[in-house]
Amino acid sequence: MQSFVYEALPTRVVFGSGTASQLRPEVERLGVRRVLVLSTPGRGEVQAREIAALLGDLSCGVHAGAVMHTPVDATETALQVVRELGADAVVAVGGGSTTGLGKAIALRTDLPQIVLPTTYAGSEMTPILGETKDGVKTTQRTLKVLPEVVIYDVDLTMGLPPAIAATSGMNAMAHAVEALYAKDRNPITSLMAEEGIRSLARSLPEIADDPQDRTARADALYGAWLCGTCLGSVGMALHHKLCHVLGGTFDLPHAETHTIVLPHAVAYNAPAAPDAMERIARALGVTDAAQGLFGLAGRLGAKQALRDIGMPADGIEQALEATLAAPYWNPRPLEEQALRDLLTRAWNGDPPPA
Ligand code: NAD
Repeated sequence: MQSFVYEALPTRVVFGSGTASQLRPEVERLGVRRVLVLSTPGRGEVQAREIAALLGDLSCGVHAGAVMHTPVDATETALQVVRELGADAVVAVGGGSTTGLGKAIALRTDLPQIVLPTTYAGSEMTPILGETKDGVKTTQRTLKVLPEVVIYDVDLTMGLPPAIAATSGMNAMAHAVEALYAKDRNPITSLMAEEGIRSLARSLPEIADDPQDRTARADALYGAWLCGTCLGSVGMALHHKLCHVLGGTFDLPHAETHTIVLPHAVAYNAPAAPDAMERIARALGVTDAAQGLFGLAGRLGAKQALRDIGMPADGIEQALEATLAAPYWNPRPLEEQALRDLLTRAWNGDPPPA
């Protein structure tokens, strides 16, 4: 018998097509009256204005100032807007960058948050906030940043370009993969992890073939929700450590980095986590988890080499040093030469070892 602790997180989730229309009733349910809608600039702002229109007189404005990796400067600017407009809640419409800004505001003000995710990053389901200041990223875990309400509306994801859907979906899978071998894994989170991987592995190729396939888009969003819940529930390991180091040190794009590193981190951990490997492979419908993930990324047309997304060749030693200096718990002990080999393969775009 396995003893375990499972802690459910208290987010209310509304899921479906056309569910953005539930925003106003959800705002009323929270009892707030001056809602600030957040987004990234450009296309995100257009979507945010449409969402603000749904709120009518309950919206006090739009702030399209979200930036990747939640820089504290951007948060301070947003806090000024919150104060000037007298906002009593925030609505984040967008990917992990916009959700991050909503969380950073909630951390400092306790304002309630409603999130309408438009990517598969999964941040909306976690009590985790990563912020950057002077180029250094620090991450904290506190229920203060967990959104009160998440409205998943598949319609908001229909325009997500297949290339971003692919890497964002692989980013989501990474949360579920590491949940299956987490130190504090439990049977409930593992159920969600396997189902999340299965949903995404099936739907992402369908989206690549037909971006307007609404059923596939809904399956991917459902999978992303499950994977985000995994990230919020249990600890992450080597894969997330490597991605944080690579993203932070070389300013690499978040989801692409996850997509490239994942098969290699899984191959590294395979000997130490046979049960997890069996479940990942079963969810992917393959015999080998690492090869299956590498094959899926290839099938989706994603970039598979760190050198192709901006990592310098001489960065391998730097990344290795940073990973070993402050490691996360991992099922397999960190071995310098094996990690160097892992990073070298990922940099070259080679498949993981069979
Ligand atoms: P993102 O939010 O930066 O979005 C990526 C790009 O896609 C942006 O240019 C955005 O404008 C565009 N986009 C978003 N939705 C779109 C849509 N429906 N159609 C067209 N374009 C769209 O990236 P992301 O990958 O969603 O999130 C990455 C960030 O989230 C990172 O900063 C990462 O650290 C953070 N994150 C945090 C957690 C957490 O639990 N704290 C979890 C996952 C990711």
